[in-house]
Amino acid sequence: MYKSFLIKYAEIGVKGKNRYLFEDALVQQIKYALKKCEGEFLVSKAQGRIYVDAQTAFDFDETVERLRRVFGISGICPVVHVEDEGFEKLCRDVTDYLNEVYPDKNKSFKVVSRRARKNYPMDSMTISAGIGSAVLEAFPEMHVDVHNPDILLNIEIREKIHIYSEIIPGPGGMPAGTGGKAMLLLSGGIDSPVAGYMIAKRGVKIDAVYFHAPPYTSERAKQKVVDLARVVSRYAGPVYLHVINFTDIQLYIYEKCPHEELTIIMRRYMMRIAQQIAEETGCLGLVTGESIGQVASQTMQSLTATNDVCHIPVYRPLIAFDKQDIVDISMKIDAYETSILPYEDCCTIFVAKHPVTKPNLGVIRRHEENLAEKIDELVQTALDTKELIVVSE
Ligand code: ATP
Ligand code: MG
Repeated sequence: MYKSFLIKYAEIGVKGKNRYLFEDALVQQIKYALKKCEGEFLVSKAQGRIYVDAQTAFDFDETVERLRRVFGISGICPVVHVEDEGFEKLCRDVTDYLNEVYPDKNKSFKVVSRRARKNYPMDSMTISAGIGSAVLEAFPEMHVDVHNPDILLNIEIREKIHIYSEIIPGPGGMPAGTGGKAMLLLSGGIDSPVAGYMIAKRGVKIDAVYFHAPPYTSERAKQKVVDLARVVSRYAGPVYLHVINFTDIQLYIYEKCPHEELTIIMRRYMMRIAQQIAEETGCLGLVTGESIGQVASQTMQSLTATNDVCHIPVYRPLIAFDKQDIVDISMKIDAYETSILPYEDCCTIFVAKHPVTKPNLGVIRRHEENLAEKIDELVQTALDTKELIVVSE
């Protein structure tokens, strides 16, 4: 029955003079999301509304599924367009619509009409009242509830007349790319894909960097990260994933620094390298999956030590989240099954039995001086040999 969708968006509405930029970005993202869908679609913007109209046969569920991943959409309303052939015909169209969509008529309803085309011969109050009576006559088991109706029946008088009542929730957020670009430190764990998803949801385009330590970490571990980048890209658009060979740097730190400080010093080098790639690629900040107190390297003191090497902003969207809250989002975005695959990540190989939980910044800086001889060269080699994988759906 449905061939069209009315797309509702929330926050974009408050962007004042720039509003059209956000609307245009949303239209672009919707087009992009539907490209791989079966069928042809016309995506258009009219009078502060975005419509998706199928031009050919299409798969309803697949289309909705894709639209549900487009940031900036707050609701997806399947809508029926009928020709204006008089009010009596409209009443019949509406009862036909209700018959089709709600097999169980034991429901309350309210009619809301909008007369966007002003030459329509009735005003919106009269339209609503007339349709309400027609519905009650056709379906005596239905009743009107103006405060808390089961069905909010929308009638919009435009070129054609639009009838809709269902709102499928969208993901919210802002259209991808309207908020600049950030570099996500993406590991194979549960947290960082969720962090990337959350920042992308605010309209930020995501690039990613993964620190790989062959042969201590396997090809399968790397493939897992590529798969997680793909999960993020289903929402955020194509992800440029930089893979850094981190082995020699890790071994050198292992050789020169106290083992209980390995993780912190390693994390400082990850941040430095990520920052360098970020600056070369136009990213305005780093994103990590850190959360206070989750592990030794994420105490306030450890975060201070890690943050110390960064001069661009580090965004940590999960900072105050409990693990279970993170797991819930991970499941919602379909990352969880991949994240829990048991492949080693580069941090677990080199972790000390008793890592420092309250590192002293001065001490860490001093111990890093042990690396002076070779570290710059190793970092440069890691950057020179990085691999770029473009990940998209
Ligand atoms: P995650 O579940 O995201 O792996 P985690 O709880 O295992 O997080 P850590 O291993 O301490 O936490 O890492 C903290 C953050 O550092 C991660 O969320 C991620 O952003 C980044 N990170 C850790 N290891 C890597 C890696 N090998 N490559 C890229 N980023 C990493
Ligand atoms: Mg990890």
